[in-house]
Amino acid sequence: MIRSNSWLVCVCVCLCVSCRVCDPCELTVRSAVTIITHEVHPVSPDHLKYKQPSIINGRKDVVTVTPWLAPVVWEGTFDPDLLNPIYKAQNLSIAASVFAVGKYIKFLRDFLETAELHFFVGFNVHIYVFTDQPKAVPQVKMAAGRQLSVRSVPSAKRWQEISARRMELIQELIEAELHGNNDYIFCLDVDSKFHGHWGVESLGGLVAVIHPGYYKDDRSVFPYERRPLSTAYIAPGEGDFYYCGGAFGGHVGEVQQLAKTCRQNFRDDAEREIEAAWQEESHLNRYMWINKPSKILSPEYLWQDFKSREPEIHIIRFSGVVKNYAEIRPNI
Ligand code: UDP
Ligand code: MN
Repeated sequence: MIRSNSWLVCVCVCLCVSCRVCDPCELTVRSAVTIITHEVHPVSPDHLKYKQPSIINGRKDVVTVTPWLAPVVWEGTFDPDLLNPIYKAQNLSIAASVFAVGKYIKFLRDFLETAELHFFVGFNVHIYVFTDQPKAVPQVKMAAGRQLSVRSVPSAKRWQEISARRMELIQELIEAELHGNNDYIFCLDVDSKFHGHWGVESLGGLVAVIHPGYYKDDRSVFPYERRPLSTAYIAPGEGDFYYCGGAFGGHVGEVQQLAKTCRQNFRDDAEREIEAAWQEESHLNRYMWINKPSKILSPEYLWQDFKSREPEIHIIRFSGVVKNYAEIRPNI
């Protein structure tokens, strides 16, 4: 059914590249990482029945491809009847990392229970929970092929620390455990629930989710880091989209490079006593601007419960719950 399950991965890493911000402040930004993953072409099972594809009719209310020719996934752009059998035959493993530190542990049950209903149902899924309260991790019944591992992390006095540490721990997780065992990883916020199908249509080398708060805005108003002293700097008139820090992923090798680069840039900023406007989200946006994602997920893949539904959003797959920051964060 499938001709080959193997990947040809060409890695060419240039971690320290000069950029225009080096002059005059001599800043070195580590962000150009080229990992080219060549997936073998999809091989369909013989006589598979599915709806006839069209190249004339389809979504006309949204853009479904970026200027660098990456697909943008919206409801109506893919056919699960075609995709599922193709990916099923590859026996993939999908990891997900989620942090539940301090009072955020209260979001974990809903996250896990709804993941069972919607996130890669029928596939091998390994969820890694990072928490300072391992005993409080709820017991959630998981289907065959799905498992959960709990990793202890220290508590934090500032929520910014948790945000900063996520990239480091994701990098370490991939290097210590995932390479060779898991094909893909998604890194997700815990204060969210799944409401609809999230499956193999989301798989790709480097996968970014468009932030629901800014997808109709001009890039001049994106909350990128705007101070040239930060390694996350993006100048006015630059950038593609505003991507979510609360959901991103891809092939484990790609996400390892992303996490490593963002972590290092975060650390370099700390040495200069600067913290990017939206911590890891700012670094992620800088990374994804230089290293263009190979697949983009529409805001269906991370909506916000407080936002009213927009006409182009035909389904909400994953959405952030409404929360009281003053009540749940260790600091304001
Ligand atoms: N987080 C956590 N404990 C905290 C703060 C944050 O575990 O005290 C983790 C959690 O996974 C959360 C993520 O960091 O979903 C990002 O923080 P948050 O959801 O508050 O950011 P927002 O989505 O509001 O920008
Ligand atoms: Mn969140």
